[in-house]
Amino acid sequence: MRKLITGAAVALSAAAVPGAQAAAVSGAPAGPDLAALVTLKDVQRHLDAFQEIADYNGGNRAVGGQGFKVSVRYVAGRLKKAGFTPKVQRFTFPYWRERSEPTLARTAPSKASYKVGTDFVTFAYSGAGDVTAPVAAVDLPASGVGTSGCESDDFAGFRKGSIALMQRGTCAFSTKVAKARAAGAAAAVIFNGPGEKGPVNGTVEKVAPIPVVGPSFKVGSELAKAARKGGLKLRVRTDTVHGRRSASNVIADTKRGRAGNVVVAGAHLDSVPDGPGINDNATGAAALLAVAEKIGKLPAEDLRNRVRFAWWGAEEEGLMGSAHYVRTLSAADRGKIALDLNFDMLGSPNGTRAVYDGDHSSHSGTVPPAGSGAIEKIFRDYFAGRHLPVTQSPFDGRSDYGPFVEKGIPSGGIETGAEGVKTAAEAKAYGGTAGKAYDPCYHAKCDRMKNVDLKLLDTNVDGVAYATQRLAASTLPVNGEARVAAVPTAPYRPERQGPYLLR
Ligand SMILES: [Zn+2]
Repeated sequence: MRKLITGAAVALSAAAVPGAQAAAVSGAPAGPDLAALVTLKDVQRHLDAFQEIADYNGGNRAVGGQGFKVSVRYVAGRLKKAGFTPKVQRFTFPYWRERSEPTLARTAPSKASYKVGTDFVTFAYSGAGDVTAPVAAVDLPASGVGTSGCESDDFAGFRKGSIALMQRGTCAFSTKVAKARAAGAAAAVIFNGPGEKGPVNGTVEKVAPIPVVGPSFKVGSELAKAARKGGLKLRVRTDTVHGRRSASNVIADTKRGRAGNVVVAGAHLDSVPDGPGINDNATGAAALLAVAEKIGKLPAEDLRNRVRFAWWGAEEEGLMGSAHYVRTLSAADRGKIALDLNFDMLGSPNGTRAVYDGDHSSHSGTVPPAGSGAIEKIFRDYFAGRHLPVTQSPFDGRSDYGPFVEKGIPSGGIETGAEGVKTAAEAKAYGGTAGKAYDPCYHAKCDRMKNVDLKLLDTNVDGVAYATQRLAASTLPVNGEARVAAVPTAPYRPERQGPYLLR
């Protein structure tokens, strides 16, 4: 954290952060720098706690298990000690898990088997089944991205009981699977698009009655070629369980600040079942907890707006906790939310510092609600003032801002990268290794304490603290300090639902 002396810190940060001086008129922070009050040690203590919780509870903190429940108790307990009255909001969600490894194999005209993880994976919410059947290619494009399986016409002449071979593109996976099912398909195989690496990590959103797997483009192209020649048979086996499970969000409001202009600051608390989830997302959860523990030290002028800290459950299942929270708010309560900040993965070991693209300058992802650009600028100006590089991250639906953006609530935040690959330009700006994943332990067993870049985390925690303090003092540039019922400025078109691709 910034080693600054209070008093001098105020003048310094005002001078160092472009735009801060102009904003002083409208109520920029008056008290001590929250970024200086929150130390890396505070955050590390929470990270250690989350690691220990996972180590003694089956190696993970995933919803449905004990590691998540103990994480909820830990956060709620720390909040109580800090003077909050935390609420544990329980909810149920559709649960899906694989019970054993799936199979994808060619049985005719020649035999071959494919490797789970590298060649293919099972779609989230795939049904269970063991199917060996002839394969029908469904409107596969000769090249590029097509509309394979998007139209009912694509299935003209489709033989009932066969396996539908489709390519990713244009419509949602759920549409392709529904149309294949309607045509009588016994299983669906949706391979990746050209230029996409590895298998399709997608979701069919609702439980499908048939097995659905997603091979890589390489494997899919081989299958397409074989299907064209004729006589291709595949075996597709998935072993999945479904049901409803319960999980919780932890929510705590500052006692001070206007209840009619609420700044939500959230991070997901759950991990995947495969590991302890320290970078993803103990870093965000710990940063938020450390900020919550110190926010009471700010003077009243700095807490003119209420801050609502939220630790979301079941993000890794597809944003279930944040979606439940937003869905169950009354229209009046939703109207009181000024904006949403989201922090998911703050210390990727080969990371960058990506601020959510609030002004849509990257022209990728969904168009975020008006006001999101101002939030992006608050983060950008802060890091520019500290001469720290920043890149941007599209609003693609990958984390818990999704349900807020869908409702037209301005959103922003920071993330440092998952399975994406660092470019040469990024390696120059941030150090690390070009051509390697931002987080080589993403969703894996090795996402432990060692998997966190503490220097990157440290500066990002400063950003979390700064933006929270800045917006608690004033949301003027975001919403004019006046909540008018949010209206989405553009239709919400996410590419993802949490970690899973939708299309
Ligand atoms: Zn995450």
